[in-house]
Amino acid sequence: MATIFTKIANGEIPSYKVAESKDFYAFLDINPLAEGHTLVIPRNTEADYIFDLDDETYAGLTAFAAKVAKAIRKAIPCKRVGVAVLGMEVPHTHIHLVPLQSEGDLNFANEKKQLTPEQFAAIASKISAAFEN
Ligand code: 5GP
Repeated sequence: MATIFTKIANGEIPSYKVAESKDFYAFLDINPLAEGHTLVIPRNTEADYIFDLDDETYAGLTAFAAKVAKAIRKAIPCKRVGVAVLGMEVPHTHIHLVPLQSEGDLNFANEKKQLTPEQFAAIASKISAAFEN
């Protein structure tokens, strides 16, 4: 059975898309730590753990995530874009990109931001506009 993230990448479950390529897909986390919190996933594998990916997919995923992080940096005022890999909830490799004002913003125990669909859509569209492939 396909993971929820495969269904998102295939458009079977809606998401706020930030960027995509043939092999990778980036979309807003639905329970964000900060405005612009984005998840980046590979399309061609549902491997649970990032360090189980083959070298080519791993390199491609991290290179794609770097481009997405640059777009987030341009679109969302922040000091840095933090990077995290947890996978405690969804068993399909994903990289979290989180705009940071301070170190504490990357604490996944923090209360999540409540955003309206309009706010999600506006954030996704800003990051998407700043994305350079
Ligand atoms: P992790 O597996 O890295 O511990 O956490 C999974 C992340 O995916 C969480 O931050 C959660 O909010 C996000 N997430 C889970 N299900 C969905 C979903 O259906 N759509 C979106 N956009 N994000 C999701």
